[in-house]
Amino acid sequence: MSDTKKPSKILICCGINGCIKSFVEHIEGLFVKKGTFDYVFCVGDFFGDCDKEWLEFKESGNIVSVPVYVLGPNKKEHEKYFINLQDQQLAPNIFYLGKDGVFKTSDGLKIGYISGIESNKAENEIHTYNFDSISHFKESCVRNGIVSLDILLTSPWPFDVRKKERTPANLKIKEPTKLYYESHLLSWVAIDLTPRYHFSGLQGVFYQRSPYKNCNSNTVTRFIGLGDFNEQKYKWLYGFLLSPIELASANKINYTVTESPYADNPSHYITHVLPSTKQYFYNTSTNINYVDNGPSKKKKYGAVLKQSTDINTNNCWFCLSSKNITKHMVVSIGDNIYIAGNKGPLVKEHILIATVNHYKSFPNLPPEAEKEINLIKSCLNQYFESTGRLAVYFERNILSAHYQLQVVPVPKRMADRLENVFKNKFSEYNLSLVDIPPAASLRQIAANNYENYFYAELPNGKRLFHSAFKKTGSQQEQKFPLHIAREILASPRLLNVEDRIDWKTCDQSKIEEETDVNLFRMAFAPFNPIKD
Ligand SMILES: [Zn+2]
Repeated sequence: MSDTKKPSKILICCGINGCIKSFVEHIEGLFVKKGTFDYVFCVGDFFGDCDKEWLEFKESGNIVSVPVYVLGPNKKEHEKYFINLQDQQLAPNIFYLGKDGVFKTSDGLKIGYISGIESNKAENEIHTYNFDSISHFKESCVRNGIVSLDILLTSPWPFDVRKKERTPANLKIKEPTKLYYESHLLSWVAIDLTPRYHFSGLQGVFYQRSPYKNCNSNTVTRFIGLGDFNEQKYKWLYGFLLSPIELASANKINYTVTESPYADNPSHYITHVLPSTKQYFYNTSTNINYVDNGPSKKKKYGAVLKQSTDINTNNCWFCLSSKNITKHMVVSIGDNIYIAGNKGPLVKEHILIATVNHYKSFPNLPPEAEKEINLIKSCLNQYFESTGRLAVYFERNILSAHYQLQVVPVPKRMADRLENVFKNKFSEYNLSLVDIPPAASLRQIAANNYENYFYAELPNGKRLFHSAFKKTGSQQEQKFPLHIAREILASPRLLNVEDRIDWKTCDQSKIEEETDVNLFRMAFAPFNPIKD
């Protein structure tokens, strides 16, 4: 390769703990001795219990000669430093990286970062991340074609990282004591994003793990846990040269490479975010719609009841407690949600996610069902990704009695066409299809639009919404082409199975259905967060 680009010179520091003035003096001294660095990153706690040095540094008007990028707080008390920042600057040339994301350097390095510590709560604070934010981060990496990071920066250590260590000297290193600063979600994300380097802090020890080979790629990862600057007991900084992987020369050095320290089944690291009790199998309780006590929702709730009168938990095709349910189609049953095969699938592994109990549509779901759906979607995305496909999700809440989210896998190379084909087909039928703004939730949008809508979620992250609520009400509903999503996905530009648009014409025998469901269940098992 004739590329003349020089590798980037990177310095990772840890545990500044508020000693900012002395830290800046230290690295400036280092630059004088060793030459300047291109980037400086800080993991662990940047701020400490005492403000003194920070205030002195700010007052001094000194500016660090190299941009310093800092992970966010790990404690509530430190959140104050990270709010109301201008241009993400904590001080001139000292930047807060943000909650999570990928920092792309001008030389093409992809540096992923996750700020804060793990939380089980549904809502994140400035100093925490949770399952939802991490799965969102992971999915956005995949959507943007980032399947391998050059560097991953986190403050806590990934759980299990010391497992399968082989180097004797490393086995002697004192066990990290602060278990609170280990994170299952970081193991989960590291498995997928296969960083070449993963730096963490907070444990107050230096640990350079033997490099490990990732299960799902040829990437070798070097995990490095750094000690704290303010303690100076253990190595707290790590300087190195790095080129983007495509420029990096073939790896000829014989490292003591170990197997991946992480569990074979990635969902091992996220089961703790699932609700812990499983109260039913095919239960007989008749849980009606989720009641939100907000006053503005009352009218909507009334409308739901009225609509559902002819289909109820006894005759509904999708209620698990109903006698009409086709049990052999069920793949897996979670706490609020189950996964099943479809009657007359468009393609193999065209499946559906539905609620165990009778809810009409997404805005009626209780929050725990939404959480479980997000988890299942994220695991399905991983599964389809591992087979070179990406999932399209859609819900048609028009002439439908029970919430179901259809999941259709499409080959990756088709993903870019989806949005166009969807929009063109809707405009062919003279139907609106709008983008849901990234910050808005489907719950908000759908609730504003009352009852009837069509919703699709594409692999590029776009969420498309059609509201069937017009002044003409039910008249409008009748005109909606119920097969529209199948028609779109079956089109020659996509799956090219136009003879399968109408599910009724592609019904399978019970044996075929059972075989397909079993095959999917087995293939998905390593990714399935629901353990039966
Ligand atoms: Zn039902």
